[in-house]
Amino acid sequence: MTGQKNKVVIFLGPPGAGKGTQAERLAAEQNLLKISTGDILRDHVARDTELGRQVKPILDEGKLVPDAILIALIRDRLASMDAVRVIFDGFPRTLPQAEALDVLLEELGAPANAVPLLEVPDQVLVDRIVERGRQAAARGEAVRSDDTEETARKRQRVYHEQTQPLIDYYAARGHLYRVDGVGTPDEVYGRILAGMK
Ligand code: AMP
Repeated sequence: MTGQKNKVVIFLGPPGAGKGTQAERLAAEQNLLKISTGDILRDHVARDTELGRQVKPILDEGKLVPDAILIALIRDRLASMDAVRVIFDGFPRTLPQAEALDVLLEELGAPANAVPLLEVPDQVLVDRIVERGRQAAARGEAVRSDDTEETARKRQRVYHEQTQPLIDYYAARGHLYRVDGVGTPDEVYGRILAGMK
């Protein structure tokens, strides 16, 4: 036993809103495990696993990977935890994923504590994603194959259609709070902490 209290934070927001950066800092400062489903899937692609081969074309197109795959991945990650201290980054992205996560968390006795929604206007997001790709290339790093303007716009559409309904879902449960995602990373981080009970 770690003796630590359960804590579950779910970051919502469109692609490029800064969820990954903010979740990483919060995880480090509050001893939480960041679970980024995008990172997990990209790792499978990089290692050329069976799952990686299956999902690569979906990631490249900016579409969503089937719910059953994501739910199984998350169930595996949570099963091995002593205290459930996690930040979800990029999950859930659909209503069936959110419902399945609720069931899992209830089984573990660790309901969601906080759901910050990072809000950033669409055009700022596309610029950020394209810039992220450009900077990675300039540093000689691998560029995410989905960090192009066309795919960024596609991912944005997918967000509006499939993920935005989660805002109402979590608002109805009283966990959601809105965070202005425009500003320096420090400013945005301060707002996230301020909204967290
Ligand atoms: P991200 O790094 O969170 O932007 O995710 C990159 C890509 O991975 C997405 O465009 C999807 O193709 C896939 N992906 C990540 N998380 C999920 C999820 N929860 N449900 C479905 N697909 C996902």
